[in-house]
Parts: sequence; structure tokens; C-alpha cells
Amino acid sequence: MLVVGAGVVGLTCAVRLAEAGARVRVITADEPAETVSRIAAAVWYPTRTDPDPRVLDWAGQTFDELAAQAARGVPGVVMRPTRMLLRAEVSDHPWWSAAVPDFQIVPPAPGYAGEWRFTVPSVEMAPYLEWLRERLAGLGVPVRRQRIRTLREVAGLAPVVVNATGLAAGRLADDPAVYPVRGRIVVVANPGLSTSLRDEGHPAGPTYVHPRSRDVVLGGTFEPYETDTAPDEEVARAIVARCVALVPELAGAPVLGQLTGLRPARHGGPRVALDPSGPDGIRLIHNYGHGGAGVTLAWGCAAEVVALASR
Ligand SMILES: Cc1cc2nc3c(=O)[nH]c(=O)nc-3n(C[C@H](O)[C@H](O)[C@H](O)COP(=O)(O)OP(=O)(O)OC[C@H]3O[C@@H](n4cnc5c(N)ncnc54)[C@H](O)[C@@H]3O)c2cc1C
Repeated sequence: MLVVGAGVVGLTCAVRLAEAGARVRVITADEPAETVSRIAAAVWYPTRTDPDPRVLDWAGQTFDELAAQAARGVPGVVMRPTRMLLRAEVSDHPWWSAAVPDFQIVPPAPGYAGEWRFTVPSVEMAPYLEWLRERLAGLGVPVRRQRIRTLREVAGLAPVVVNATGLAAGRLADDPAVYPVRGRIVVVANPGLSTSLRDEGHPAGPTYVHPRSRDVVLGGTFEPYETDTAPDEEVARAIVARCVALVPELAGAPVLGQLTGLRPARHGGPRVALDPSGPDGIRLIHNYGHGGAGVTLAWGCAAEVVALASR
């Protein structure tokens, strides 16, 4: 089997297919460390993902897998307590809370209308992508650099081809529903924070503070159809200012860098499906369009790909 793409979606698929006994190889235009996946914040949270039973199932499976990985010390994976500050009163539990064992609604902090608390997996993508790659090496799965122009080009290479090319799938699968959503984050030194804080409804833009082992991810932006990934000092300063206002301990924390990536979004949600119109003689399985939730859905989608591959 051939997996095209070595972001978090492609690598997790390759791991699960190889664990299921398939002979697998991966081709990728970019090193895993150069993918959008490397930029992800990357906490378990189905950011701006529409409620859908399939998505909830993928998210739940991924939650359980990442929680198990955190428990056995997989590099970069921990469980992170989170506070979500709400600007509007919400009495119902969000649809995704069914996947989160300790989700609770608590009295709001001053100035807010509501608050949720929950503990979710949080992943540092640099060591995690490296770990996924090593796991593949252990399973005998080669990862090779190759940029394809069409999926037809690789049709002769394997009877099953998994298309995990993220944003590029829009062109490769001729799918007009795929579109970019630019995200910008700033990374600063960690002054000793351990709880994630989110104020997604901030009028100046989504605001979040995600501590990691040595640094803190400050966010962010969510900009559909914006494709310029050059750094923007003004936006970075505004992100830092919003986050410092939210968490004053961040004031003066040295800025370590700013990152920009294009989330591979798709109208209608991720496409995880067999494509009957794939090139002759191969079973083409798509797995792309995860938007701002690729880390949150990866392991559940990989399980579905294994089922589709063996059907
Ligand atoms: C700022 C920011 C913050 C985010 N935070 C979170 C978060 O907190 N939680 C979360 O779940 N998600 C988050 N995301 C979203 C997450 O990063 C994506 O959903 C995820 O990385 C998508 O993974 P992917 O493997 O589909 O795509 P990618 O990581 O883009 O990988 C695509 C792969 O396909 C390959 N490819 C592309 N074209 C070709 C070609 N022609 N030939 C061969 N190979 C090709 C690429 O080289 C690459 O290997 C965030 C994203 C951004 C930008």
C-alpha cells in the first residue's frame, strides 16, 4: 500500500496500516518537519468543525489513543488541563464533550459569561512527528521524498493508495471544497504555565495560550482563503498583547518565534472515503480536509482508512 503525504494524517495512517499487517510505503513532497502538521498548536480540540457523528467518533478514538500514548510516555504527548472562557452564556454541553471524560461547566471568571473546564491531550509536534517516523522505521515502512503531479502517476506503484496530501488534495483529487485557512501563532518561553486557556470568542480574534514543556504557543488567527505565509510583525504583536492581557504572567516572556500555516479545510468536513473514480485498478482512499483539527482526528481517521483498505 502507498500513502501519499507525511503530515500527521499520512503518518498515522501508515502506522495503522503497517500494524494491521500491510506492506506500506510513504511518499511525501516535504519532510514531516516541514509540513503544516509541524506548525499545529497541537491540542485535542475540534476547532470550527461542524457537529457530525463521524467526526465525533474519529475525535473520540483519537482522544483515547493520545491519552494512552501520554500515559506510556510517548515523546511530546501529555494531558493538559484547559479552561475555555466563554463570552456568551451557553447552558448546553458542546457536541464534542462526549469524547472528554472530565468535561464540566463551572461558574464564569469575572468579565465572562461562562466557562468550561476539561483535560485533553496536547502534542508537541516536533518530537511527535519524529516518533511517528521512528515507529514507521520499526515497522519497516520507508518514507521517501517525491512530489507527485497527479494521483494517476502512482497508480502502478501499489494496489491501494491513500491520499493524505492535506491542502494539496484540492488539486490532486479535483475537489473544489478544499480551501486554506491561515493560522498564525507566536511561541514564547514558558514562564511556568501548565494550564491551557482559551478565549476563542475574543472580538479581536481567537485567543489561546497553550503551555508546552519549555515554551508556550500563543494564538492566533483563523483566516479563510488567506495564503500569504510570510511573517507579520503587527499580527504577532497583537497576538502577544491579547495573550498577555489574558495571562499577565506572560508579560516579558522572550519571543522564540512566530509560525504561519495553512490549515487544509474542506466544506462539508474531512473526506475519508473510497473514491470509485480513482485511477484504473487501484483502490484509492482519500483522507484529507481536516482543517484545524488534523491532530484531533488523525488516529480515528486512520482506523477508518484501515477498514476501507481491507473491505
Ligand atoms: C496555526 C495552526 C494551529 C493548529 N492547531 C491545531 C490544534 O491545536 N489541534 C489540531 O488538531 N490541529 C491543529 N491545526 C491543524 C493541523 O495542523 C492540520 O489539520 C493537520 O496538520 C493536517 O495534517 P495533514 O497530514 O492532512 O496535512 P499536512 O501536514 O499539510 O501534510 C500534507 C502532506 O502531503 C504532502 N504532499 C502535498 N502535496 C504533495 C504532492 N504533490 N506529492 C507528494 N506529497 C504531497 C506534504 O508534503 C505533506 O507531507 C493547526 C494548524 C495551524 C496552521
